[in-house]
Amino acid sequence: VTLPVRATEHTLIAVKPDGVQRRLVGQIIHRFEQRGFKLVGLKMMQASEDLLSEHYREIVKKPFYPLVRAYMTAGPVIVMVWEGSNVVQSSRKMVGPTNGAEAQAGTIRGDFSFHVGRNVVHASDSTEGAQREIGLWFQENELLNWESCDQDWTIEAN
Ligand code: GDP
Ligand code: MG
Repeated sequence: VTLPVRATEHTLIAVKPDGVQRRLVGQIIHRFEQRGFKLVGLKMMQASEDLLSEHYREIVKKPFYPLVRAYMTAGPVIVMVWEGSNVVQSSRKMVGPTNGAEAQAGTIRGDFSFHVGRNVVHASDSTEGAQREIGLWFQENELLNWESCDQDWTIEAN
């Protein structure tokens, strides 16, 4: 997909099935909203095994992948595209390390999880990875280009 805004960065954030089951969707969205990032796409989906193996192509051969597949297809996920300056790296910091047991309090995983196999949320790990993942989960017409009214109050014009 070609993303609506050229100059800024995008990332794919997903609330995993445990986050949906545990009613954490609102709190997770809230963290990205309050940071000032802009939501440009959002939907609820049941991930197929094929989509998931593409999404996780870097870990698909790992011995624990069957656990990941079972986890991630066990229920619906919420997938989102967030936009903003440095949003990929900032989101990874907000999400915290893969294993919630090692995550700092204040991160999403540090506040809501303590097991690597139930870590509540996904965040792309690079701008290239984000582009690839957004293309897997979203159609072009599902991403909206809109002007947020607080733009001048979250980004200094230069
Ligand atoms: P992330 O980028 O922090 O999400 O971590 P990775 O890209 O390394 O792994 C992708 C996802 O696979 C993680 O978020 C976990 O849900 C899962 N995962 C990674 N390592 C393990 C593991 O050792 N055991 C299990 N059960 N799941 C794992
Ligand atoms: Mg990863």
